[in-house]
Amino acid sequence: MRLLVLVAALGSFSSFAATEEDLWKEARTSAAAFEKRTGVPMQWLEGDPAKGQSVGDELIAWPPSALDVTSSAPALLNELTIYPDAFLKSSGLKRVVIARGLERRGTAWGGFAFWAGPKKGTLYVSLRNLARAAVTIHHEVFHLTQHIGAIESRRDSWSACNPPGFVYAVDGEIDRTRQRVATITGYARTSLVEDQAEMFAWAVSDGAFMAQQSQQDEAIACKAKLIRTFVKLVDSGFDDARWEKLASRKPGESLP
Ligand SMILES: [Zn+2]
Repeated sequence: MRLLVLVAALGSFSSFAATEEDLWKEARTSAAAFEKRTGVPMQWLEGDPAKGQSVGDELIAWPPSALDVTSSAPALLNELTIYPDAFLKSSGLKRVVIARGLERRGTAWGGFAFWAGPKKGTLYVSLRNLARAAVTIHHEVFHLTQHIGAIESRRDSWSACNPPGFVYAVDGEIDRTRQRVATITGYARTSLVEDQAEMFAWAVSDGAFMAQQSQQDEAIACKAKLIRTFVKLVDSGFDDARWEKLASRKPGESLP
């Protein structure tokens, strides 16, 4: 019996004996398949995980360890399957870079999209919280699309969803007597662009939450409808059928 236990233990040990190199290889193989399909490379910041690197625009990024990479790669790649390939191309997304952590001006950041300059189209994602990283990816992808003329020119229709007297924090004093009105998260009250990015990120990540919030708040219902119009302007493949599939998708699953 003891021998059996020992053999079983050795067996399980050998299956975990993948070297760091094996772990990286596995992640890079899945990333390469994704790039072949969409034209968008997914990369992991390289270097000493203990040392932060300045990557531009006051953003500091920490490289992930081999274990960070393998434990996160499938979930992050699954997250990107929610987009039609043509949508990713039209969105302006050029590269996804995964970091163990991000910091900007002394504050932890979930993600950051460069929409101008030499790194235009590069999206940095922090692994500090993997569940949150999924929402972050969609939030940042939407930021990239906001510079597409068809969406930029429809800002007035978005503002028209807000109730009278509503202001974003960047425009004036916000109503703090009510926790959240007309926006899906507290952060969305920052500005119109953050409001749009948050609406999109939650609409694709948690359809049930969005439906429930839309029933309780007319402005949210109005914005949820506009978000569907906006993504269709980026790529007509992001249609009602896709939203229907998204509604029944469980968090972390890939979209068939
Ligand atoms: Zn944002």
